[in-house]
Amino acid sequence: MKKERHVLVVFPHPDDEAFGVSGTIATHIKSGTPVTYACLTLGEMGRNMGNPPFTNRENLPKIRKKELQEAAHVLGIQDLRMLGYRDKTVEFEDEEKLSNHLLSIIHEVNPSLIITFYPGYAVHPDHDATGAGVVRAVSKLAPDARPTLHCVAFSNNCVEELGEADIIHDISPVIDKKLAAIKAHRSQTEFTFKDMAEKLKNQDPQVMARVQFERFWTYKW
Ligand SMILES: [Zn+2]
Repeated sequence: MKKERHVLVVFPHPDDEAFGVSGTIATHIKSGTPVTYACLTLGEMGRNMGNPPFTNRENLPKIRKKELQEAAHVLGIQDLRMLGYRDKTVEFEDEEKLSNHLLSIIHEVNPSLIITFYPGYAVHPDHDATGAGVVRAVSKLAPDARPTLHCVAFSNNCVEELGEADIIHDISPVIDKKLAAIKAHRSQTEFTFKDMAEKLKNQDPQVMARVQFERFWTYKW
């Protein structure tokens, strides 16, 4: 993995980082690179409140905030920012305002690499709107001053339209940290995780590949 000056991660929901990116984050931190994680919402509209329910609508954001802080802690992220947008409404934010907000963070932390969703290929409207906001923010910088964008994509058509991911990180050296980050988002991953932990123990190839390799598409201007 290339040594970066500073990595900025921008996602809309607590746990967006867990499955696809947390090993990459942990690797950067291990090699001494500071990581800032800007999370737009607290995922307060999440439908998963357990059965029987472990919480209610009012308390869900508090729980998810704690889980996010715990995930950041296990990964070693020292700069976690919760930007205070509302879950499921990022697509309705004023695009110019959102991108200027993100641009102010970019100016402040001066990242050499930004990790976000690939707009149009990230399935959920909040994901696409977040990626679009980052792209719009970075496009305001002179081409030679732009940080690299590594984008996460997982729509059915992403490989067909974007080609194969050009960046693949084998994160096995930090897999424990990744599993701990996934586990931290208990309200979202408890059931998935139980199942997954079992399969990992048995070295299920599909689950191993899913956890061990993190894929990114470099955004092309
Ligand atoms: Zn999400």
